[in-house]
Amino acid sequence: MNIGIVGLGLIGGSLGLDFRQHGHRVLGVSRKPQTCARAIARGAVDEASVNLKLVQPADVVFICTPLAAMEATVIELIPHLSPATVLTDVGSVKGWVMAAIAPLWANFVGGHPMAGTAESGIEAALPNLFAGRPYVLTPTETTPPEAVNRVAELIRSLQAHIYHCYPDEHDRAVAWISHLPVMVSTSLIAACLHEDESGVLELAKALASSGFRDTSRVGGGNPELGVMMARYNTAALVRSLYTFRDSLNHLITKVEQHDWQALEEMLERSQQARPVFVNHQ
Ligand code: NAP
Repeated sequence: MNIGIVGLGLIGGSLGLDFRQHGHRVLGVSRKPQTCARAIARGAVDEASVNLKLVQPADVVFICTPLAAMEATVIELIPHLSPATVLTDVGSVKGWVMAAIAPLWANFVGGHPMAGTAESGIEAALPNLFAGRPYVLTPTETTPPEAVNRVAELIRSLQAHIYHCYPDEHDRAVAWISHLPVMVSTSLIAACLHEDESGVLELAKALASSGFRDTSRVGGGNPELGVMMARYNTAALVRSLYTFRDSLNHLITKVEQHDWQALEEMLERSQQARPVFVNHQ
């Protein structure tokens, strides 16, 4: 199959590495010529260009740019496509994408791979990034089933687990487990930096170990991605942040009241609930 990938970064490059491994011909488009050259050198694409015309022969095109560039990219891409071409995206927010892009192209299938690292750009692309990971598809009542099947077949070949849901359900779910954690982790790092005694702050940095590494990881990632989550998933994120604030206030009260039993109950509930989230697959 001819596969087009627009946006040769962590996700686009990783898709390219895997699809080429499976014998597909991958045509990549990115904004910078040097990114195109690196994508070819890394084996993520067969051909690359800064011109969207390159993906004209593609049967399926993956839009892998940052969210902010997706709508303009699709509008620019459409004159180069034949009506049978299937378009799909990898954006981490689906309500906005479906509202902005689905009306532009009948054969559009919204998608979101639940995989990534703290790195970005073509150098961060990895083979097998999606294996064993969830991959959400958000078709609507009007999405042609053949288009969904075509994308699903490719996703299955990556060894990813496919989930189908409504865009709004997706956005509320990822607000809890992806977007809220980024904001909480960012607040954690910001709070630590508020230590006003420099000797204590330096000591804290020196003593920081695995616990801090785990809880600060997603707050130390690509800032552009965090802003995109907040900008394009505002309602669901704000809702989850308010609930988190209530939960934190409750915890502060229990500590201030020296109510160790209530605190222990909270910690026990979270100890029991965590495996349900992290061992689900
Ligand atoms: P990334 O590593 O920054 O890659 C995006 C690439 O798109 C950049 O390297 C850039 O390449 C290129 N680009 C930017 N604007 C462009 C344009 N107008 N036309 C063509 N190419 C353009 O970001 P990413 O992490 O792969 O994220 C890409 C998408 O995946 C986002 O929509 C994000 O929501 C989604 N996603 C990310 C993750 C994650 O954990 N990172 C997980 C799931 C989904 P140049 O060097 O050419 O500028």
